[in-house]
Amino acid sequence: MTQYHQLTDSYQRQFTYLRLSVTDQCNFRCNYCLPDGYCSDTAEPYLQLDEIQKIVGAFAINGTKKIRITGGEPTLRKDIAEIIHLCKSTPGIDTVALTSNGYKITQLLPRLVEAGLDQLNLSADSLQAENFHLITGHNKLQEVLNGIEQAVALGIKKVKLNAVLMREFNHHELQSFIAYVRERPISLRFIELMETGDNKDFFQQQHFSGAEIQQHLETNGWLQVLREPHAGPAVEYTHPDYSGNIGLIMPYSKHFCASCNRLRISSHGNMHLCLFAEEHHKLRPYLQSESSDQLAARLRDLLTVKKESHDLHQGNSGSTRHLAMLGG
Ligand code: SAM
Ligand code: SF4
Repeated sequence: MTQYHQLTDSYQRQFTYLRLSVTDQCNFRCNYCLPDGYCSDTAEPYLQLDEIQKIVGAFAINGTKKIRITGGEPTLRKDIAEIIHLCKSTPGIDTVALTSNGYKITQLLPRLVEAGLDQLNLSADSLQAENFHLITGHNKLQEVLNGIEQAVALGIKKVKLNAVLMREFNHHELQSFIAYVRERPISLRFIELMETGDNKDFFQQQHFSGAEIQQHLETNGWLQVLREPHAGPAVEYTHPDYSGNIGLIMPYSKHFCASCNRLRISSHGNMHLCLFAEEHHKLRPYLQSESSDQLAARLRDLLTVKKESHDLHQGNSGSTRHLAMLGG
């Protein structure tokens, strides 16, 4: 009989949240992520449904409650609805979320909700069509914004809009972003630009500190709220005059790693103990030969070597060349 466990590392952090990348392919060319577009460096296929089932089953045995499906662009997978359904129907998993660039979300969303999608994050780094095009290489702002409205109308409980603010490209839009949540019951997430292997010079020029946004919010009546269990890494703010709230993801802030509750699986079945780890652990060789219980025991062993913190402050972003590899 399956025995349930709680994944815990040597620093007593509990891991209840899995970020599952289902492809590293992307159709956008965000200037901080894939400025030259997607380029494959392996012929290895992406995780298939049966492999995803084995991995998700093993994580659920280990106490995972929430799965975020990400990429690359996860909606490029034709079986994205099946993946969501599979995750949602795994015993122990109560929340399935998706992060997408939203390029055809209005067409897909009803089917994804029917498959069991609970939460949706869409990315828009600008609320001006031309600037959106400049940053992403695509003219899809209206589709993303329509997707946000549709998600709210469909009753998705948590709808989020992700934005990475950069010095030169969009930090002047801070006020427009904040105004966007005045009447909309969604969460706006400002993700601080992170340094990766491929964007070192870009990062130096464009990094805009999350602490500056935090100061702006706090001097303008925004109040910090308590973190929910299984929540992501954001510090959340609310304001009495706004329907929506604002979350700040500040990987360079003190104690960011202390609240880490998430692990990552790449689209080729590698376990990453941290977004910025040097090494990863291949699970694929075990997916056919081991049961979910055996795999779950293997995951618990792996967790004992998770480090206390990333080394981003030392300019070491590990082996992650760009976040499309792992989904952020
Ligand atoms: N393609 C989907 C999207 O863009 O929403 C999902 C994958 S993308 C890697 C997930 C999130 O990571 C996006 O919100 C994106 O803006 C963010 N991201 C990518 N590279 C980043 C970086 N270097 N620093 C901070 N955020 C980054
Ligand atoms: Fe693609 Fe997302 Fe990276 Fe933009 S941030 S290039 S949409 S993976």
